[in-house]
Amino acid sequence: MSPETLNALLKFDHDHLIHPYTSMTDPLPVSLVTGADGCEIELAGGRKLVDGMSSWWAAIHGYNHPVLNQAINDQLGDMAHIMFGGLTHEPAIRLGEQLLNLCHPTLRKVFFCDSGSVAVEAAIKMAIQYWTAQGNGEKSRLLSLRRGYHGDTFAAMAVCDPVTGMHSLFDRVLAKQLFADAPAVRFDAPWNPDDISSIQQLITEHHKELAAVILEPVVQGAGGMFFYSPQYLREVRALCDRYQVLLIVDEIATGFGRTGKMFACEHAGIAPDIMCVGKALTGGYMTLAATLTTQHVAETISAGGGAFMHGPTFMANPLACAVASASLQLLTQSPWQQRVANIGKQLSAGLEPCRNLPGVADVRVLGAIGVVEMEKPVDMRTLQPRLVELGVWVRPFGKLIYLMPPFIITDKQLATLTDAINTVVREIG
Ligand SMILES: *Cc1c(COP(=O)(O)O)cnc(C)c1O
Repeated sequence: MSPETLNALLKFDHDHLIHPYTSMTDPLPVSLVTGADGCEIELAGGRKLVDGMSSWWAAIHGYNHPVLNQAINDQLGDMAHIMFGGLTHEPAIRLGEQLLNLCHPTLRKVFFCDSGSVAVEAAIKMAIQYWTAQGNGEKSRLLSLRRGYHGDTFAAMAVCDPVTGMHSLFDRVLAKQLFADAPAVRFDAPWNPDDISSIQQLITEHHKELAAVILEPVVQGAGGMFFYSPQYLREVRALCDRYQVLLIVDEIATGFGRTGKMFACEHAGIAPDIMCVGKALTGGYMTLAATLTTQHVAETISAGGGAFMHGPTFMANPLACAVASASLQLLTQSPWQQRVANIGKQLSAGLEPCRNLPGVADVRVLGAIGVVEMEKPVDMRTLQPRLVELGVWVRPFGKLIYLMPPFIITDKQLATLTDAINTVVREIG
């Protein structure tokens, strides 16, 4: 690509395209990607970056994977898309079977949709319809956790952390949900029963109006990258059972091995009533998500002939289902537990030296997720270009500099990532 073409493309992007959570008129610079292969991203001009982000938890097998490419090509010859109303197809059926085989055996029903946020919307509707179908329409509120993140559509936003989710901007239209204090006991720390006092109090006081508790199991992701005690989850499950409140777990970020278990709920050995998956479902190839629920919830909703009230145009898109199916097969046939454990070990060793550097508040690792939390928010205007200069694609937010590389990353590539983080953290401090 000539420098003139590159500049013209970047100028159009700057003037007209809106990037995520960014100023519409004065955005920070972006880099133009021309290709991605394995764990490398290639920028216009030829510079290659080691990928530390998996395109936001998604590209667990890396980019341009021959098996995933083939799955899409094969499906393309049959059909790219077909409506799911009144029709079905093998890619959706195969994927449904695979998902049910992987998740907790009480989950028996799968709703395919376009994105994580929509899966959360569907989960919330299921919970509300479950109670309404029993003549219990007053149970229509949700309880979630501070520091949580569940997506960007309105019902999903309403259960995100009210401060980092900028609820103040949409105050008049957002549903008023309830928020328990974020869990404080860390993943490996001894359990402290005080950690559930906030959620316990809210459930005890409000269970008559609560349809469901919704939370991210074990890892609070975009809201703060914090790993909490699985005991917290077990306690919440017990409270939900005792007070007749459904439990929705949002496994959109944590699902498919990222935390060292296929689903993060398995750390606690609990079963949800409703589960959302997305992100890594297609190995990062296409947008697809799913909401799963139990036979009991499904039978209750539909007991009086009731339909589940959702149905996106592109639900169960065959291309997306075909590549998801191939991705799950790749995952389950790979030594993913060992890969994730190895990445975790190397992240711990590689990021640990940051702990004692000035300006660092915490270093933590779980599964294939490594986080350096700074005391102050980082300056993306200088930090992002510096990381690119060091040959890595790492996208910090707020105080967090973190890695969640593809599972196929090599030791050497991972060392490039952790070295770059050590370098920038030293430079900041
Ligand atoms: C990313 C994410 C979502 C939203 O998914 P989208 O595909 O971006 O709509 C919801 N919940 C969690 C936990 C996520 O990480």
